Amino acid sequence: MSIFKDKICIVTGGASGIGLNLSKQLAGHGAHVIMADINFEQVEKATEALLKNGLKVKAVKLDVTDKFAFKKIIEDTAAEYGKLDYLFNNAGIVIIGEVRDINLDHMTRVLDVNLNGLLYGTYHAYHLMVKQGSGHIINLSSVEGVLPFPLTASYVGTKHAVFGLTESLWVEAAGTGVDLTIICPGYIRTPLLTDSETVNTTSENVLSSYLAILFEKLSAITPDVCAKLILKAVIKKKTIAFVPKIGRLFWWNYRIWPMGYLRMLRFFHRLDRKRLKKLQKR
Ligand code: NAD
Repeated sequence: MSIFKDKICIVTGGASGIGLNLSKQLAGHGAHVIMADINFEQVEKATEALLKNGLKVKAVKLDVTDKFAFKKIIEDTAAEYGKLDYLFNNAGIVIIGEVRDINLDHMTRVLDVNLNGLLYGTYHAYHLMVKQGSGHIINLSSVEGVLPFPLTASYVGTKHAVFGLTESLWVEAAGTGVDLTIICPGYIRTPLLTDSETVNTTSENVLSSYLAILFEKLSAITPDVCAKLILKAVIKKKTIAFVPKIGRLFWWNYRIWPMGYLRMLRFFHRLDRKRLKKLQKR
C-alpha cells in the first residue's frame, strides 16, 4: 500500500507541468489532493478529468502571493479533513531577460511568487504541522538554486533563497515530527520553459542557446518522470533531492571550482549574445 493513501495534500501550481503531474500521481496513490492555482479555469479543467477517473481531487483558486488566502486554504483544508499531511510549494514563474533590459517590476514579481508565496505556505503549514506533531513540506527550488545562470537573475535569486530557507528550517524542525524536502529540478519539459514572459529575447532564442542546449542534453526529463522522482524522494524523506540526479554533479562541480564555473558561464553567455545580435539583424 502506498504511503500516500488517504493522505491530505495541497499542491500549489497544480494546473500545469510538475504540479499537475504531482497531483495526478498523488491522487493515483489514493491521496486527497487540493490542487491550488492562480489559473482556476485550467486547474478546474484538470480536476474534472481526474474526478471522472474516481480520483479524490479538488480545484481551488489561489494566488500564493496573497498571504491571507494561502493561510485560509491551509486552515480550511485542516478543518475539512482533520489534518494536513503534505504541502507541495510548487507554484513558480520566471521572466527571462538580461537585468539591463527588464524592469524592476518584472524582478519583484518573480520574487513575490517564488519566494514570498513559498514563504507564506511554508510558514502557515509549518505552524499547523508542529501543532499536529506531523507533516511534510516540499519546497521546489531548482538546480538554479545552487548555481548561477544568466538571463534569469531574479529567478536564480529566489531559488537560492528557497534553498537556504528550507535547509535552515529543516535544522529547526528537529524533534517536531515535521519533515522538509528541497527539490532541485534540472531541465523539465514544461510550459515554464516555452511560455514564460521574455524581455528583449524569445523562448526559442533562449532554448537554442549554447548553455540551454548543453543543459538540455545533460539533464532534460518530462514532468511525469520528474513527479515520480519527487515522490520517491518524499517517501525516502530526503532533505535535498536533485531531479534528475545529475544536478548534484553540477552542484559539486561549482562548489569545488566556483570561479572556473563562473568563467565558463560568461564565455558561453558572450557567445550566445553575439549569436542573438546576428539573429536580430536578419
Ligand atoms: P509551469 O509553468 O508548468 O507551472 C507553474 C504553475 O504555477 C502554473 O499552473 C501557474 O498557473 C502556477 N502559478 C504561477 N503563479 C502563481 C501564483 N501566483 N499562485 C498560484 N499559482 C501560480 O511550471 P513548472 O515547470 O511545472 O514549474 C513548477 C516548479 O518547478 C516551479 O517552482 C519552477 O520554478 C520549478 N522548476 C521548474 C523547472 C523546469 O525546467 N520546468 C526547473 C527547475 C525548477
